[in-house]
Amino acid sequence: MTIPFNKPYMTGKELWYISQAHHNMQLSGDGPFTKKCHEWLEQNTGCKKALLTHSCTAALEMAAILADIQPGDEIIMPSYTFVSTANAFVLRGGVPVFVDIREDTLNIDEHLIEAAISPKTKAIVPVHYAGVGCEMDTIMEIANRYNLLVIEDAAQGIMASYKGKPLGSIGHMGTFSFHETKNITSGEGGALLINDERFIERAEIIREKGTNRSKFFRGQVDKYTWCDIGSSYLPGELIAAFLWAQLEEAEGITHRRLSLWKEYHQAFSVLEKMDVIHRPVVPVESIHNAHMYYILLQSQDKRSAVMQYFANVGINAVFHYVPLHNSPTGIKYGGSSSELPITNNLSGRLLRLPMWIGLSMEQQNFVVDSFREAYK
Ligand SMILES: *Cc1c(COP(=O)(O)O)cnc(C)c1O
Repeated sequence: MTIPFNKPYMTGKELWYISQAHHNMQLSGDGPFTKKCHEWLEQNTGCKKALLTHSCTAALEMAAILADIQPGDEIIMPSYTFVSTANAFVLRGGVPVFVDIREDTLNIDEHLIEAAISPKTKAIVPVHYAGVGCEMDTIMEIANRYNLLVIEDAAQGIMASYKGKPLGSIGHMGTFSFHETKNITSGEGGALLINDERFIERAEIIREKGTNRSKFFRGQVDKYTWCDIGSSYLPGELIAAFLWAQLEEAEGITHRRLSLWKEYHQAFSVLEKMDVIHRPVVPVESIHNAHMYYILLQSQDKRSAVMQYFANVGINAVFHYVPLHNSPTGIKYGGSSSELPITNNLSGRLLRLPMWIGLSMEQQNFVVDSFREAYK
């Protein structure tokens, strides 16, 4: 048996919508499918404005421009995250200041944020790891007190919520990813969610190469011109058509992932009681979206041994992230407000298990049984 780590799920309507976009003869961005996706995102998150982008990375870059990050400005974020969280700000000359994570959710430890604030701090970027919300009430309270912007990296957070509020809709801005490995996908893709109206007009301009093209097409200006810095951040209609097929089924997709997640969670409960592993923790405030199932092993050596065993029996399990504060570029451009013991420790012990719609009960049992065998 070979069990891949991920398999993209197709709803079956993707090609049909792509053929409609083909038929419409509008292939560049912001056509009818992009509008449908924008409306869906606005309705389902409550954000004031949603804009599709090429990727979550692109959405984070837009957010960094909108936050007006200047060289030397500091941005507080976890080190335990994907590179784009930091890279988007480094591109503007910003300095990521890495803060340790919580042992339970692996999200930024909200209690360590205040100590990391300096006169140069501009923004806080919480990352909702595994689609489990950060402690946003505390983070927003700190941000308001110090007049900082909050940009949620909700790359993994679509269809998940914190205290009833959809992830990505709580900070001033939020970002989603539709990469193939995420719950809802268009291969590559993303979105910027804007919750603070002040940023809407400029976001449209930045996304359209620094021009007021969007206003021109709405008939609000009679010619369009270069009016700000920007880039080409909007995806074409074929991507939006594909994405629309997925967004339409977002609820079903989330539901099916949640049942796979619960299977693993149940199956690993005994091993947790024996203290062999730790399972993910979802605080009561959070409704998650089963973006991933991970377990924490006792040591990095144990993880290597299990991964070796898995490889031999055909199970593809993976780990991430190399903490950014230990990476060559993180060392070059970033700083840490203190030691990051939990990040260093947990990142060496985390293992992600295969998780995709279509994974059978038999395959899940095989993963769990193989884990037990590997541990003997
Ligand atoms: C996947 C991911 C990204 C990047 O998303 P892309 O759409 O591939 O650019 C950024 N941050 C986090 C936390 C992610 O998981």
